[in-house]
Amino acid sequence: MTQVIYGTELAAKIRESMKQEIADLVKRGERVPCLAVVLAGNNPASISYIKGKEKACQAIGMKSVMKLLDENITQQQLEAVLKELSEDDSVDGILLQLPLPDGLDENSAINCINPDKDVDGLTPINFGRMFLGERSFRPCTPSGIMAILDAMECEIEGKHAVVVGRSKLVGTPVARLLQDANATVTICHSRTKDLRRFTKEADILIAAVGKAKMFDASYIKEGAYVVDVGVNRLDDGHLCGDVDFDDVRDYCTAITPVPKGVGPMTITMLLKNTLIAYRERTW
Ligand code: NDP
Repeated sequence: MTQVIYGTELAAKIRESMKQEIADLVKRGERVPCLAVVLAGNNPASISYIKGKEKACQAIGMKSVMKLLDENITQQQLEAVLKELSEDDSVDGILLQLPLPDGLDENSAINCINPDKDVDGLTPINFGRMFLGERSFRPCTPSGIMAILDAMECEIEGKHAVVVGRSKLVGTPVARLLQDANATVTICHSRTKDLRRFTKEADILIAAVGKAKMFDASYIKEGAYVVDVGVNRLDDGHLCGDVDFDDVRDYCTAITPVPKGVGPMTITMLLKNTLIAYRERTW
């Protein structure tokens, strides 16, 4: 019987314990943790993502500061905002919503975030530390995926994990975390020849491409653990993943749906990292 793992349910449990911790801080009259979210421009998907983050902060009693910047902001102005937040003692975590409008340099901007407040784990310092196996803020979606595999009771060690997608936000870091957990990891991407040959061998399949329902049952090894990261909007307005859920579900040991799968865990890991940043800065 296939287990369907809802990130919403997992996230609710983790968020409840964070809510409790923050309520205790309030009772003791202490400052509550604060996440600053920086958005440049008016990308509708980004606006909806940052609203989700603001709502999630409110729901657990975490403070949030939204910095909404003009589409035409210069690199220098954007970096000044990030540096100011980095030095602001009332801010614990900083998230720069990606992608940036055309013409802005993402890497240079990220580099202006104080690594101690880099709750998205994307500064070269945190990314490098992760690859060196040192303590660091882990990028949120990969951390959420690892928590989902844990909830699936998937014994990662010795398994063949195939990650489709090699972005710096998802594919590359999750492959690293899987390797750290002693999986044998294959990374596939747009130039991979005969993708099915690899995914058919996957005990664990992480689909992080951004192409609606591209993985049907012919891509899946019987008994696989499947985590669907993709978020795609269909013509009828509904969201779906990279995995054809209905076609695939009966072949898997466990699978995540879209929506209500990885997405809620990404936000939860962001809140968790902000709470960690707060603790490390205040204790
Ligand atoms: P990117 O567009 O940055 O990366 C997509 C990756 O997929 C690239 O590595 C690309 O290869 C690869 N790819 C593209 N086409 C194919 C193909 N036909 N076969 C194999 N590989 C292919 O996307 P992200 O990593 O940022 O996001 C991936 C998906 O996950 C998106 O749908 C995004 O919306 C979603 N997402 C969901 C999150 C959540 O919280 N639920 C969070 C972040 C992302 P190449 O490198 O060669 O171009």
